[in-house]
Amino acid sequence: MGSLGSSAQAQKPHAVCLPAPAQGHITPMLNVAKLLHARGFDVTFVNTEYNQARLVRTRGAAAVAGVPGFRFATIPDGLPPSDDDDVTQDIPSLCKSTTETCLGPFRRLLADLNDTAATGHPPVTCIVSDVVMGFSIDAAKELGVPYVQLWTASTISFLGYHHYRLLLSRGLAPLKGVEQLTNGFLDTPVDDVPGLRNMRFRDFPSFIRSTDPDEYMVGYVLQETRRTAGAAAVILNTFDELEGEAVAAMESLGLARKAYTLGPLPLLAREDPPTARSSIGLSLWKEQEECLRWLDGRDPGSVVYVNFGSITVMTNEQLVEFAWGLANSGRQFLWIIRRDLVKGDTAVLPPEFLAETAGRGLMANWCPQQEVLSHLAVGAFLTHSGWNSTLEAISSGVPVISWPFFADQQTNCRYQTNEWGVGREIDSNVRRDAVAGLITELMDGEQGKQMRRKAREWMDMAIDAAKPGGASHRNFDHLLRDVLLPKN
Ligand code: UDP
Repeated sequence: MGSLGSSAQAQKPHAVCLPAPAQGHITPMLNVAKLLHARGFDVTFVNTEYNQARLVRTRGAAAVAGVPGFRFATIPDGLPPSDDDDVTQDIPSLCKSTTETCLGPFRRLLADLNDTAATGHPPVTCIVSDVVMGFSIDAAKELGVPYVQLWTASTISFLGYHHYRLLLSRGLAPLKGVEQLTNGFLDTPVDDVPGLRNMRFRDFPSFIRSTDPDEYMVGYVLQETRRTAGAAAVILNTFDELEGEAVAAMESLGLARKAYTLGPLPLLAREDPPTARSSIGLSLWKEQEECLRWLDGRDPGSVVYVNFGSITVMTNEQLVEFAWGLANSGRQFLWIIRRDLVKGDTAVLPPEFLAETAGRGLMANWCPQQEVLSHLAVGAFLTHSGWNSTLEAISSGVPVISWPFFADQQTNCRYQTNEWGVGREIDSNVRRDAVAGLITELMDGEQGKQMRRKAREWMDMAIDAAKPGGASHRNFDHLLRDVLLPKN
């Protein structure tokens, strides 16, 4: 960058993108960053030092080398160094440490970025922050630049968090005792919840299933979701047909000054010119491409794809129930077993299961999920219903069997099964017969056919929303025009 502070450089808008440091947050923020870059923004993408080092290890230095006008920067996450640097970090600890320690380093980073004589980059003109990195609003205010937040989970779950107050006021939360977890209380219908339909207590985000009125994650999410009203706009990774009612409620309840639905972000990012697309990928695990080659050899719709995302953990007993469920279904399957999927232990599968399923099951540690889901061979998805996975399944027209683990997944599962007609749920106390039965129903049964048809309808609507002229595509133009592009 020879001509420091040249007028061309000074004119270019410069977005700083700050994702929360977990896979399900990094991926959607990267899509927003790529979209901005494709529209002529200079982009600084902020990783935690831990994740940046991990990306270099798993993907090589090129993954974070950037491209012209798109660079990576880092801040510390505030956690002590860990013995094992290739596993999912503890989420509550990470939430606490980022909230308490990241504002200072983020401020310093912004000051460095604005030293344009030293960097040769244009000054920062806007900040796009994850909702759960809400501390950054103070830094944006000090800088006097537009501040936009990205909510990476479902909008229905955003309302689920917000309405915790309503559960408190109705005396439903906090739980009166642990027996309420098993005595049917969780099935209590909760009516008249603005923006949400047919909810039961159990369908609210999981953190509220606590007897502790001061449960850390509830307080944390309430604090973060309260801050969205202070942002100039909130980006939602969804589309209007899917969650329009919840989006409208978010605005009418004053939770966002303006909400822009830009989803599904992977489809929207695909529509824009592939400037930064090809060379930048931020998967924290190494993707095993052989999964795709294995699928190439299978008949259309013949494979059950099993993946519980980047955070879910289970006991080895639960893993074994899933294993026998898959085996007894008689179906072919691709099963992703993360190295840290079994809580505090290594996954141990029975040798009899391995012998029985040899040749019809492939197991791997991590795969390129979006490509897997859009592979014709995949007929059903056994998932934890993380929001990215939910949208990726919808975008590929694949019905789901849902085993929600935590956070928004309970709410997503409720809507998948009850409102959107694309899935069935497996009890948290998973049993092999239930797994095999649901797989058979989804792959061969009448209900499965209906869910597949419904999933394809949603896929068509998702594609329409993201293509030029579609609502998500238009909303992106409006977000740029109304909020993110500097007004001259
Ligand atoms: N993912 C992937 N390969 C895997 C597992 C997950 O690429 O083997 C991606 C997946 O496509 C999704 C993200 O990781 O984009 C997981 O996000 P999600 O919101 O579904 O769940 P979380 O991991 O946050 O629980």
